Amino acid sequence: MPTRQIGWNVSEVAFAAMYLLVAVQALVLAYGFTRRYLTWRRGRPYGPIDQVGERLRQALAVAFVHRRLIRPGYVYAGLMHLFIFWGFVVLFIGTLIVLLEADIARPYFGFSFYQGAFYVVYKLVINLFGLLFLIGLLMAVYRRYLQKLPKFRRSLSDDAIVLGILLFLGLTGFLLEALRLSATRDEAAPIHWVAYPLSLALNGVDPSILAGAHAVTWWSHMLANTALLVYVPVSKLAHIVTGPTNVFLRATDARAALPLIKNIEEQEHFGVAKLDDFNWKQLVNFDACMRCGRCLDFCPTFNTGKPLKPRQLIVEVGAYMNRRAGLFAGPAGPRISEAGVRGSELTSPDEPSLAQVALAADLIGDVVSEDELWDCTTCRACMEQCPVRIEHVPLIVEMRRNLVLEQSRFPQELVLLFNNLERNGNPYSFPASSRADWAAAAGVQELSAVADPSELEVIYWVGCMSSFDARNQRVATALAKILTAAGVKFAILGKEESCSGDPARRAGNEYLYQILAQTNIERLNQYQPKRVVASCPHCFNTLKNEYPQLGGTFEVVHHSQLIQELIDSGRLRVAPEAVRDGRMAYHDPCYLGRYNQVYDAPREVMNRVEGGFVELPRCRDRGFCCGAGGARAFMEEKRGTRISHNRLNEAIGTEASGVAVACPFCVTMFEDGVRALNVEERFAVRDIAEIVADGL
Ligand code: SF4
Ligand code: SF4
Repeated sequence: MPTRQIGWNVSEVAFAAMYLLVAVQALVLAYGFTRRYLTWRRGRPYGPIDQVGERLRQALAVAFVHRRLIRPGYVYAGLMHLFIFWGFVVLFIGTLIVLLEADIARPYFGFSFYQGAFYVVYKLVINLFGLLFLIGLLMAVYRRYLQKLPKFRRSLSDDAIVLGILLFLGLTGFLLEALRLSATRDEAAPIHWVAYPLSLALNGVDPSILAGAHAVTWWSHMLANTALLVYVPVSKLAHIVTGPTNVFLRATDARAALPLIKNIEEQEHFGVAKLDDFNWKQLVNFDACMRCGRCLDFCPTFNTGKPLKPRQLIVEVGAYMNRRAGLFAGPAGPRISEAGVRGSELTSPDEPSLAQVALAADLIGDVVSEDELWDCTTCRACMEQCPVRIEHVPLIVEMRRNLVLEQSRFPQELVLLFNNLERNGNPYSFPASSRADWAAAAGVQELSAVADPSELEVIYWVGCMSSFDARNQRVATALAKILTAAGVKFAILGKEESCSGDPARRAGNEYLYQILAQTNIERLNQYQPKRVVASCPHCFNTLKNEYPQLGGTFEVVHHSQLIQELIDSGRLRVAPEAVRDGRMAYHDPCYLGRYNQVYDAPREVMNRVEGGFVELPRCRDRGFCCGAGGARAFMEEKRGTRISHNRLNEAIGTEASGVAVACPFCVTMFEDGVRALNVEERFAVRDIAEIVADGL
């Protein structure tokens, strides 16, 4: 019957030492994670935690099935991680079984399950997962060091330590088995199907040499295992625990809404200036990063050479947080040491420790630069791709809030934006009274002139861009033409409409946002609309997802959804040859796609015109921002290359004759882009409403 001697060549002293090491590992793990937990709890209160069951399900799915890790485009990386994770888990369980057999089952119960069929299956499985573990590690070495991806250039030292220890453990595990098989001439050797060929190569070596090599390998394996487990709580490996914890805690209530500052009039402190200003759930984000770099893949700032790199922001703040708490946090966090603590007053004349430096460094300025904070377009590409649900955008906006509302430090262009929003209710210098001028020419009526607003099917929320910008007024006119053709009774708020508040909110001016939002909510409540249709995804998102925080709950649809509905119901007929500009590429606006998951409606509409549309390489949840979100449309793009040009060049590189969009900000960014790139004669920029209106 196949079996083996447990603890061959391992003395009782060595076994005792091993248990001592296990105790040390357990204590260090418990201490490390308790310190992390206590560090998080220094943040502001957060809670209560709702939907515990659903949260738990998602956290476990991420931890054990790698649900967000294995996705289209990330199959290699997902499988790599799965092999390493499950390889380690199964080998760990295998070791526990050995100890259970050696120290409990045999001595106390005279029972052994380490024989016969169980033993055969156990060995076959252990060898399989040991091999997968090694394959996963070699895949990681290839990805990190040989593929030379730009996103991994700065994250190599922590990776090298972790991969080095894991590889050593995997290889010495098989070597131990091979040495034993060869020295003991084990008859069941072939069931150790990975270690067996190696043991054949060792046959002929003197058994005493094999035993000596086995003892050395055993000790080095034990010590490496201890080093690994001691390293877990202070390195990127902490994500094994903190990643699923972050998934468990993520915001589930308002996917596309920023957190509301309640009773803003009564507040004396706004946003985040120092770590403790974050709530404790937000602090967990900074500890959860697994350094995979997926947040960089579609980030417009990283891909156009700007200072903001979402992974670096999270890792640097995490290192800063842990060093302030006196917890070494791996080799990451060069900025704290590089900062030299500008302007700080260290009392020690000696070289300051990293903890001292971190204590004296400021969150904004030393660890995160203001340029980084203002570069973000809030496009959400980072959040969408992050396997452990780190929520970069709310963290960035919290810091913007402090800069704007407390320190009055923000880009000069925003002074004009805030002043115009306050005075005119729009981001420009146009008087509020001229908001509906375009409508008079287009024959669109304002609500104030409608005798019975309850008869209206929808209120068309035009938004500032389409109300005042001549190019986008053509889009508003096209949508009005479509609604009229479909027999939809509608009107606009006109002079009663103000900016939805989106640019103010994303720029950190929550106070101004709430004033604008409350004014609009009062107006809309007055008219009790059955439905609101918005042609601007930023307005659509704000009205739909953020106004409910202030008591304004309305049914809001985007114009792409309404047009699709009208076509599907037969109320609107579009001639297929509508596209006069040829077959166009469709660009997903971030606030329509990633924020609200409206991917199909505009595509359905584009499919009704001749030739359909061209799908861009970066599309749907991987769409690339046009550069306008997060109030960036109102700021100069001074750093790196232009985001809109990056996107346009991608579209120009396809067979498309132009780019179709569903957002007035995208229209403006791309119109400017085609002129700057000198392709306006051959590459069109059109909103889907214009395309459909052509075919009526
Ligand atoms: S929201 Fe967009 S621009 Fe901002 S960090 Fe994330 S991916 Fe980059
Ligand atoms: S923030 Fe998320 S996506 Fe970015 S490197 Fe960290 S874990 Fe990966």
